Amino acid sequence: MAAAYDFDLFVIGGGSGGLAAAKQATDLGAKVACADFVKPSPQGTTWGLGGTCVNVGCMPKKLMHISSLYREVQSDAHGLGWETKASHSWETMLANVNNYIKSLNWGAKTDLRTKNVKYYNAFATFVDPHTLTLDNGKGKVETITAKYILIACGGRPSVPEAPGAKECCISSDDIFWQKKPPGKTLVIGASYIALECAGFLAGFGFDVTVMVRSILLRGFDQDIANMIGTYMEKHHCKFAREMVPSKFEKLPNGQVKVFVKDAEYGIYDTVLLAIGRTGCAGWLNLEAAGLEYNKSSGKIVCNDHDQTAVPHIYAVGDVIQDQLELTPVAIQASKLLCRRLFGGATKIMDYTDVATAVFTPIEYGAVGWSEEDAKKKLGKERVKVYHCSAQPLEWNLNHERKEDMGYMKVVVDLAEKEKVLGVHILGPHAGEVIQGLSVALKAGMTKEHMDDCVGIHPTFAESYTTMTEVKEEGMGAPKKGGC
Ligand code: FAD
Ligand code: NDP
Repeated sequence: MAAAYDFDLFVIGGGSGGLAAAKQATDLGAKVACADFVKPSPQGTTWGLGGTCVNVGCMPKKLMHISSLYREVQSDAHGLGWETKASHSWETMLANVNNYIKSLNWGAKTDLRTKNVKYYNAFATFVDPHTLTLDNGKGKVETITAKYILIACGGRPSVPEAPGAKECCISSDDIFWQKKPPGKTLVIGASYIALECAGFLAGFGFDVTVMVRSILLRGFDQDIANMIGTYMEKHHCKFAREMVPSKFEKLPNGQVKVFVKDAEYGIYDTVLLAIGRTGCAGWLNLEAAGLEYNKSSGKIVCNDHDQTAVPHIYAVGDVIQDQLELTPVAIQASKLLCRRLFGGATKIMDYTDVATAVFTPIEYGAVGWSEEDAKKKLGKERVKVYHCSAQPLEWNLNHERKEDMGYMKVVVDLAEKEKVLGVHILGPHAGEVIQGLSVALKAGMTKEHMDDCVGIHPTFAESYTTMTEVKEEGMGAPKKGGC
């Protein structure tokens, strides 16, 4: 196939999407190559093959989240008879996490070799619609051609306009590789990355403040977003609301002075920017391929077949305009695309009802619509919301946790026999719980199905099978109960 070209498929980016595509295409008999190159962060941090998820995203984040949860677990264990109280070492954790990531980098490389995918540790740019140059940054520049090109170059943390931001602040590209403990930290932003990072840093005992421009977790169920804020505030994390930094200055001792409205706000050892991510499409010289991209988001518009405006050039993952920035989304879209290109399949990516979890100190799992979304899309009269507050059993024996409460919410469509539109859970292991419920939601679950399901006792998630309380407009969470 495609003798006129060096490769049937060339993949730009060896992250979640790119690696999945390369492996799937080669499994289907295509001649495939993949280029991955990591430009250092403004602070000079760099890493190996595997992209954001493996190196500076999901993997180190989840490990640090789990590590920080041990603080609460120890506190619960105290009530269950354990006397010891361990201390935490940032340095040991970092060394172990980094070594694990390096093993994943190695695994990714050997995976490509085993599967006969030609790997270039080089930066790819377009020369023309079928030709790329590959620059390894050490003086070697090659040119290759490919029948199909897949852009899976992902994104990088955005930097605000405020003077000094680039020089004084770090981002999620740095925190997971920073050998020095972060110390007193200001986190700027209020979504996934900000709250997750603030959560684990506070869990380790650092003095952490989150600077919030507007609301927490835009796009998520706002009852739950606010409960996360309350929980985090109670568990060692401070919030500075309705504020944005106006300037940063590095002090001679390395600390950062932060200004709000040009007045001094505070001095921090670390300022972590988590204000969203910008796609890397602008790096690719797309003009040479006749392809446009959104200059402010750095992203590329695709049709529902992941195809760009140039028919043989596709894009997946974080670089796509207005799509979910999640690892399993990038992987699924890539696999389906390659099955269509090389396996005769027709199935396209379904970007709806993708489950997600926010790994804040109290986890939040969600699938489908939030209450706000459902009411906006269908009208208030058509939407019914069941909710309940419950306490994980072990919290009952921990006097510090007596007031803490888990919460769940089910949003249903009254016009469709209470078909479930959205499921939300706030509590331990919410990511694990919501994964199963997302299968049921995808399969068309109704509230009656949930009621007919017999729970597993004693678990926190069993409350889903016994939810009776209907949430009235504007009502907060029940103190305890509703299930
Ligand atoms: P990436 O994984 O970013 O890979 C792109 C690769 O292409 C990179 O290695 C990049 O260096 C390389 N590249 C770019 N330009 C070029 C070029 N011109 N030539 C060669 N190589 C190039 N998602 C979840 O589902 N769950 C989570 O818990 C989660 N946690 C996250 C936590 C953090 C802190 C962050 C930042 C993200 C998190 N994500 C999470 C999101 C997830 O990491 C991304 O959605 C996913 O990695 C996107 O995959 P991708 O293939 O599109 O891009
Ligand atoms: P988001 O785009 O989700 O959120 C950006 C946050 O920064 C918002 O709170 C926004 O506030 C705020 N913000 C934007 N600009 C500024 C500014 N100039 N000054 C101050 N605050 C600002 O980005 P994230 O970086 O949190 O996450 C990026 C993506 O990575 C997510 O969408 C998610 O898909 C993925 N991810 C997934 C995770 C998971 O699955 N658990 C974990 C981490 C990341 P406002 O609301 O006011 O706009």
